[in-house]
Amino acid sequence: MIEGICQRRKWRRKASKGERIPWDSADKAVVRDPEHAKARLLCAQCPALEACEAYLADKERAGVSVAGVVAGRYCDLAAARASLLPPKVLPRPEVAEQQSHCRGCGALMWPQCTPPDRVAASAAPQHKGEGLCENCYPHLSRTNRNNR
Ligand code: SF4
Ligand SMILES: [Zn+2]
Repeated sequence: MIEGICQRRKWRRKASKGERIPWDSADKAVVRDPEHAKARLLCAQCPALEACEAYLADKERAGVSVAGVVAGRYCDLAAARASLLPPKVLPRPEVAEQQSHCRGCGALMWPQCTPPDRVAASAAPQHKGEGLCENCYPHLSRTNRNNR
């Protein structure tokens, strides 16, 4: 198993002392924005990035929210809504720490766990992974970009 950057001793030591690390969830934007920008940069260089994306996408498809920055992005489910999913899931643009909009085209997306009939009944596209909607994935995916 490849060790992710966030699992390195430096960060594990901080976390074990109860100190914040860049990937942690935060209530205040003034704390969250700079820390999460750093976390996203570190994730982009992480040797475990693809395995981490696969882990997060599995959770999302199962309707389970994961807090903070994971695989360089937020989970497509808001933490507070996780227990209500999947039937009451809605795209909610106002929720912090939720990958609610496509990183490619900016469209508001349905989370990956949304039942197909709900997605089909609306104009909004569905999240398909890496923070990209069904119109942008896979052509804007990392694999595709790296092969160009
Ligand atoms: S991609 Fe980011 S969250 Fe995942 S293991 Fe690497 S540093 Fe940690
Ligand atoms: Zn898109």
